[in-house]
Amino acid sequence: MDMRDEILEILVSTEEIQKRTTELGQQIGHDYDGRNPLMICILRGAVVFLSDLIRSVPIHVMVDFMGVSSYGGTNLDSTGVIKITRDVDANVAHRDIIIVEDIVDTGLTMKALVDLMKTRGPGSIEICTFLSKPQRRKVDVDIKYCGFEIPNKFVIGYGLDYDENYRNLPFVGVLKPEVYEKRKEEKG
Ligand code: 5GP
Repeated sequence: MDMRDEILEILVSTEEIQKRTTELGQQIGHDYDGRNPLMICILRGAVVFLSDLIRSVPIHVMVDFMGVSSYGGTNLDSTGVIKITRDVDANVAHRDIIIVEDIVDTGLTMKALVDLMKTRGPGSIEICTFLSKPQRRKVDVDIKYCGFEIPNKFVIGYGLDYDENYRNLPFVGVLKPEVYEKRKEEKG
């Protein structure tokens, strides 16, 4: 069965993503010219975005990975208390850090993450998120680079999952309601 049959609507197309990631990569290259930023990809959702993004950055960058989960949160809601499931290997002190995230929703996860990273004494720290849902924000998050602002809808694709599925869709979409119903029935 083709996953695409489960999609209600496409919010961001493959072409739009390609164009925007190229623009963001160029902008980062321009802003960090002469520096060597460390791009920290937040697992697992931001992996697809990172891999496209870095190939558009024309300067030297380094890449590292961090696993973050929200304590007591669900796939649909976060809590603001984060647990680091995998830490970066690199020493971030005095480095120019760019956190690469899939989506900033309430902002609670990103705020907690930035606060944590600041305690490690980076030279600078900026956020690059593929998606942002401004209407859902509960705390202020200063986003320097944003791919797309989207409405308050639960989206999947291009790295974003529902129940660990749909990350491999090459666009951002919304699932048909019956998909959630079916999953719930399957899980009992
Ligand atoms: P926040 O702490 O900003 O509310 O939530 C951030 C995290 O919630 C994201 O990194 C992502 O894992 C998850 N999330 C928020 N909105 C969505 C969404 O529309 N789709 C998916 N797949 N995950 C989301």
